[in-house]
Amino acid sequence: MDSAPYGIHIVGGGLSGYAAALALAGHGENLTLYERTAPQTAPKTDAIRTTTINAVSYQFLQNLGVIDALPADAISPIRRIIVSDDSTAQQPLDPLMEWHHDQPLAWVIKNNDLINTMADLIKKTPAISRRTATITGYHPQHTDLGAVAAGLTSADDTTTDICVPASLIIAADGRTSPLRQAAAIQTISRDPKQSAIVATLTLDAPHEATAWQKFVKTGPMALMPLSQPFDAALVWSMTNDHATRLIEADDATFMHAFNTASGQIFGGAHAISPRQSFPIIPQHARTPIARRLVLIGDAAHSIHPLAGQGYNLAIGDIMELAGQISRTKTLGMDIGNAAMLKAYARARCPEIAMMTLATDGLNWLFSSGKKRRRLAGIGMSLANFPPLKALAERVASGRIFHRH
Ligand SMILES: Cc1cc2nc3c(=O)[nH]c(=O)nc-3n(C[C@H](O)[C@H](O)[C@H](O)COP(=O)(O)OP(=O)(O)OC[C@H]3O[C@@H](n4cnc5c(N)ncnc54)[C@H](O)[C@@H]3O)c2cc1C
Repeated sequence: MDSAPYGIHIVGGGLSGYAAALALAGHGENLTLYERTAPQTAPKTDAIRTTTINAVSYQFLQNLGVIDALPADAISPIRRIIVSDDSTAQQPLDPLMEWHHDQPLAWVIKNNDLINTMADLIKKTPAISRRTATITGYHPQHTDLGAVAAGLTSADDTTTDICVPASLIIAADGRTSPLRQAAAIQTISRDPKQSAIVATLTLDAPHEATAWQKFVKTGPMALMPLSQPFDAALVWSMTNDHATRLIEADDATFMHAFNTASGQIFGGAHAISPRQSFPIIPQHARTPIARRLVLIGDAAHSIHPLAGQGYNLAIGDIMELAGQISRTKTLGMDIGNAAMLKAYARARCPEIAMMTLATDGLNWLFSSGKKRRRLAGIGMSLANFPPLKALAERVASGRIFHRH
């Protein structure tokens, strides 16, 4: 018997949907991938952002053939990580915590290159059918098909009420997930009233594969090394009002604000890209599952970007889901059955909860008042103590939670 008689349907062609499609096609599944924008227009919107991936995610993307297919200048290793705060403003590289290894600790990938490379691989994968459609409706039990399939409806099917039957629907449709809303899954959100400004900068001194994070008065600021020895990607979180002012400011004003807040890190820097701002609204779904529906990536959880872990969590979702699907098939059961989905939800809960707490907590501690920041800084210095540091390292590398 076919274990997914109505097919597996992935909604959303962002980083999560594309990686899920490639991973499941690699497991022998036939898939339909729906994206609301045509492939040639999608990548242009993410030209400045980068994504830092940990060792587990790197291995996963390498197994999919993504890493080897990336342009050479799209990916750069991180060999040193420095975390500091305001109190070290005189010597900006004085760390509260520091890691240094010969082997890369993490990698920084340009988002456009990552999404374009995955899009190319998808085109070359016959098991994946790609459709441009905006999915708006989720029907947990199709009237003609009973409990074995859910239905998907598309806003583009205006003339007839077409309902596509699906054994399993994977919602990778982002933070505002229309499918999550259609399934009436509630979310828990916090609004720290912050935005993250991203830009590419050229530094006055080479970064030497160093990722640098500083908790400054305005909010967490990170510089990630790019493939050019003097170029770095900036992610600077701050209040919405401050972000609006700095987005509207001219380059000289913005760079003055950056150089002052960073304490002339790497000797100073100047901007080589436009700036872009992203709202920060951490949230998670109360449950990542509904009948024949599973949420992955930002549709299930979006976290503060200060730790660069959002996409790493999404990859954790995909690895777990691929494992559950292959186990279900081996047992001769149907893909998308309730037990399989419950097992997925149970398995993902600890890592998502821990990352949510850690990123919310760090942001709260470091973004609110000098005393609290200093206290947090002392806490971090203590965490530089080897056993705690090793634990933090295992969490950051994605190796603390068992994945299939
Ligand atoms: C400033 C910033 C920096 C970050 N840095 C890092 C980092 O360094 N490391 C890291 O791991 N994470 C990072 N993240 C998080 C990471 O970017 C996200 O977790 C990741 O991009 C989520 O991808 P996604 O595919 O789940 O969602 P999205 O990127 O939101 O994709 C959703 C897709 O679904 C499509 N869609 C939506 N609705 C429909 C519909 N109805 N029908 C069809 N298609 C639909 C959309 O068009 C879109 O293509 C960062 C986030 C921010 C904001």
